[in-house]
Amino acid sequence: MKNEALFTEEVEPPGIYSGLVQIDFNVEDLFSSHHTLLSYPVARTTGVHYSFRFKESQKSRTFRKRFYPHITSSEWNDWTWQFRNRIRDIESLAQILWLAESERQAMDHHSGSLPVAITPYYASLLDEYDTSQPLRRMVVPTSDEHHYSEGEARDPLSEDHDSPVPGIVHRYPDRVLFLVTDTCSSYCRYCTRSRMVGSNTHSLSHFNTWEKAIEYIEATPLVRDVLLSGGDPLTLSDDKLEWLLSRLRRIPHIDILRIGTKAPTVLPHRITPKLTYMLKRFHPLWISVHVNHPDELTTEMSHACMRLANAGFPLGSQTVLLREINDNVDTMRQLMHGLLKMRVKPYYLYQCDPIPGSSHFRTPVQTGLDIIEGLRGHTTGYAVPTYVIDAPGGGGKIPLLPEYVIGRDGDDLMLRNYQGNVYRYPDCGSIQENVT
Ligand code: SF4
Repeated sequence: MKNEALFTEEVEPPGIYSGLVQIDFNVEDLFSSHHTLLSYPVARTTGVHYSFRFKESQKSRTFRKRFYPHITSSEWNDWTWQFRNRIRDIESLAQILWLAESERQAMDHHSGSLPVAITPYYASLLDEYDTSQPLRRMVVPTSDEHHYSEGEARDPLSEDHDSPVPGIVHRYPDRVLFLVTDTCSSYCRYCTRSRMVGSNTHSLSHFNTWEKAIEYIEATPLVRDVLLSGGDPLTLSDDKLEWLLSRLRRIPHIDILRIGTKAPTVLPHRITPKLTYMLKRFHPLWISVHVNHPDELTTEMSHACMRLANAGFPLGSQTVLLREINDNVDTMRQLMHGLLKMRVKPYYLYQCDPIPGSSHFRTPVQTGLDIIEGLRGHTTGYAVPTYVIDAPGGGGKIPLLPEYVIGRDGDDLMLRNYQGNVYRYPDCGSIQENVT
């Protein structure tokens, strides 16, 4: 009864999630079907009967019936099925999409890290014929990836330089980035960590790597904030995640934990009640969701974000500014408004990092400034992310703002508002001078 009470918050608001499919499962069944690492100490919750519902959108259902006719709705909604059945080669992709020569060439000539992987769910959102469709461009490679430009670098943010031990990037004084895996459920063609994700070495998710990284954090009392990233930490099993978070929570100087993930966008089924139940033990835990386009804001993603928000995780978004994908005010406004409706606060808008072969994704910086100018003042402030350049060479995130301070007139500050009107503000320096 007590455990059932923990999940009363799964009740959806009236009208939005009507007609949901009821799926019952037993937690122990889930544990046995997951990939687990037996050497990890695990605190398991047993004997709890979870009941949850996950709505399959009409688009997903139509796609499933056409391309996966023997797969049931339960299988489709199982994140481990989605993960195991990711589309990873040209033959599988060609069964679902008509492929242009540029796409075929890119897949034929690919080698090294940043392979192709697309969850069947995300594939259901792709246009079968339109190679310029924004969602398709983000996950299907083209031969543009093999055109290198000046200023591009494998590790444009110099993360390797700021890595005291494998898996840790310590750039800012009070926080570290903890790269816990190199695996993602879908690989983004513009990925900042293209040099390492999907490399198949799995060195980042090795137990010894984690132990050394945790030892570094334990020995560095200035660190109060740990951001788990990768790769995508939510590709790890619940057991592994629980082990990691338990170890980090035992460190007295760690105030907050954060997870950066794209799961709600490309693998929303990963956000199970069992996962949120486990993660709730590690509050304060913040979650950043990587999302770039309003077409990604599906019923499934909405449901995943609802589960996370209902479990008390503050949600923020991370969006990469991408040419001819989301590089205009209308698209960004739709995206930010949609995120707010899912209780995700738009957090960062990133200028696309100059990884090798990324020039077809990058926009002029002025495009980002124009987007911020088109949002700020024109819509709720919560809908406006901070636009940043992660400075090449390891300078960290540098915020960029349109010019709202246009100068001074004596001690007065001359300001421009969102409509372009100029206002005078008596700066406190001049007031104090008059008082004395
Ligand atoms: S989900 Fe993140 S880490 Fe993975 S490929 Fe995309 S941008 Fe890179």
